[in-house]
Amino acid sequence: MKNFFRIVRYVLLYKKHVFLNIIFNILSVLFSLLSLTMIFPFLDLLFLKSEVDYEKHLNNNIGEFTLSINYLLQWLNSFLAQLIVTEGKTQALIYICIVVVIVFFFKNLCRYLGMYFLSTIRNGVVKDLRSSMYNKLLLLPLSYYTEERKGDIISRMTADVQEIETSIMGSLEMIFRDPVNILVFLIAMIVISPQLTIFVFVLLPITGLIIAGLSKSLRKNSSESKVKLGNLLSVIDETISGLRIIKGFNAEKERVARFDKENNDFTRLMVKTYRKTDLASPMSEFLGVTVLVIIMYFGGQLVLGGNSELTGSLFITYLAIFSQLIPPAKSFTTAFYSIQKGIASTERINKILDADEKIKDDINSTTISVFEREIQYNNVSFKYEKESVLNSINLVLQKGKTIALVGQSGSGKTTLADLLPRFYDCTSGQITIDGLDIKNIKLTDLRGLMGIVTQESILFNDTIFNNIAFGMPNATEEDVIAAAKIANAHEFISQMESGYQSNVGDRGSKLSGGQRQRVSIARAVFKNPPILILDEATSALDTESERLVQDALVKLMKNRTSLVIAHRLSTIQHADEIIVMQKGQIIERGTHQDLLSANGSYKKLCDLQAFV
Ligand code: ADP
Ligand code: MG
Repeated sequence: MKNFFRIVRYVLLYKKHVFLNIIFNILSVLFSLLSLTMIFPFLDLLFLKSEVDYEKHLNNNIGEFTLSINYLLQWLNSFLAQLIVTEGKTQALIYICIVVVIVFFFKNLCRYLGMYFLSTIRNGVVKDLRSSMYNKLLLLPLSYYTEERKGDIISRMTADVQEIETSIMGSLEMIFRDPVNILVFLIAMIVISPQLTIFVFVLLPITGLIIAGLSKSLRKNSSESKVKLGNLLSVIDETISGLRIIKGFNAEKERVARFDKENNDFTRLMVKTYRKTDLASPMSEFLGVTVLVIIMYFGGQLVLGGNSELTGSLFITYLAIFSQLIPPAKSFTTAFYSIQKGIASTERINKILDADEKIKDDINSTTISVFEREIQYNNVSFKYEKESVLNSINLVLQKGKTIALVGQSGSGKTTLADLLPRFYDCTSGQITIDGLDIKNIKLTDLRGLMGIVTQESILFNDTIFNNIAFGMPNATEEDVIAAAKIANAHEFISQMESGYQSNVGDRGSKLSGGQRQRVSIARAVFKNPPILILDEATSALDTESERLVQDALVKLMKNRTSLVIAHRLSTIQHADEIIVMQKGQIIERGTHQDLLSANGSYKKLCDLQAFV
């Protein structure tokens, strides 16, 4: 229920529309009640035989005005009798028909206006939900995404939000309208015959119990089905991004089998879910009709007995009103079922909205705009899960200097670098910039000081211009070109058909690896940060483009402070300090010359590469 009320909070942002919707719904119900109460007494009168009866109605003293059905009916009867006497039956019939049409016109106009305002609420809430989720995605730490499946997150953002649109928002109309409907009709029924209405009240809770029992299991199915859909989306996502490997390894059959399994699981659950949802409407109709029959039996007896206030025409009016009660009662149960499905989705959505952001600014975060002296790692340790990945790392990176990290794959180099922009927070120890703990620096300021180039160049499906001027709205053409020139990218970009306005394709797939990397470097140059983090920026490249990229990197590093992770040792010989890592620890440190003469691991690594 907590989850449901959270959605209600989103709905309440549209107060004005909710108000208008309810007003028009009430009006529409009143109009339909009016039309019903009018038809039956009229028919009654119209088919009366003797003039004496009319006289009776005409002279009926209707007494003081009171706000009751009885007063209304008497007033109506006397008015109609007068009409019939003065104008004749045919003329009266025409009048009544016109009035009924007009009343129904207004009833439906009000109904439409109710829905008109509802559609703003309906789509607005879904829009707001989607954008809260997207904003949250950007706030969540990287670690969140290693724990969760991408497909599942996408399923929550699309299918679950859609589910809320169709089930909860689709039911809003019924939630706002049907209780009003039911209440108004029930009151009318009580006024006409309290005895008969007792049956309705006895049977309602029984129906309620049956419905509640089924809805619980429906909710479970619905939530499971979204998990399955998430799995399905994960398989699709992996397949599209791994198509080259799948084809190359002839693994299509295996992938199809995997997909079919997920697809079948999903379908099976959906069939179950639909069967339960579809039960709502026939079940409530049947229960409604059963009640109707019971009422017909007892009401009929009362009328036939003749010794109660209930006359034949009043009884027919009563039945007519009751029959009007069945559709809203039916759609209300359907809505209730739908909402159960929707609640399962709100739970899944709230999991994301409530996820701990972990790494965020607090109120005392300091702003900084310049980097002046040094970066320090003091006794920094880190673990992703149980196993320690970094152990008591100490290092000092002076402004304008370069530190290189080398070591086997898996020794913790990337992790060490990721701690600096706070992609992760260290488990113990402290990292400082100019003496300030980075945990106390505003995140945007901290990351604003850094430019990052990784092994895998990340480009967005956009123009080259926008990829270079990434996140800077007021970039000028000259600045972008200047950055591209430093990154050795200008030449190939200007040879492309639309130059800087060429689209790079999905993840930059229209460019070669070396070109992609130079665009990433141009992006870092453009940002012009004082601190650079280069994580094996050249290791995915062939020798020719490596030379171009390396050259670009050297230009980029000029006058900056850099933390460089290098795969090829020849590229970091001039670093001010080389740190050799193994299993999360620093095993050697010094300049290239120092380490060579020490004749340790670094020397061995160099010797190995010399043979290549
Ligand atoms: P390097 O960059 O030196 O190759 P990494 O810093 O990437 O090494 O990884 C160091 C260790 O941390 C490895 O043993 C790796 O398995 C582990 N690791 C890396 N990323 C994660 C992660 N997101 N979750 C859990 N373990 C990780
Ligand atoms: Mg790495």
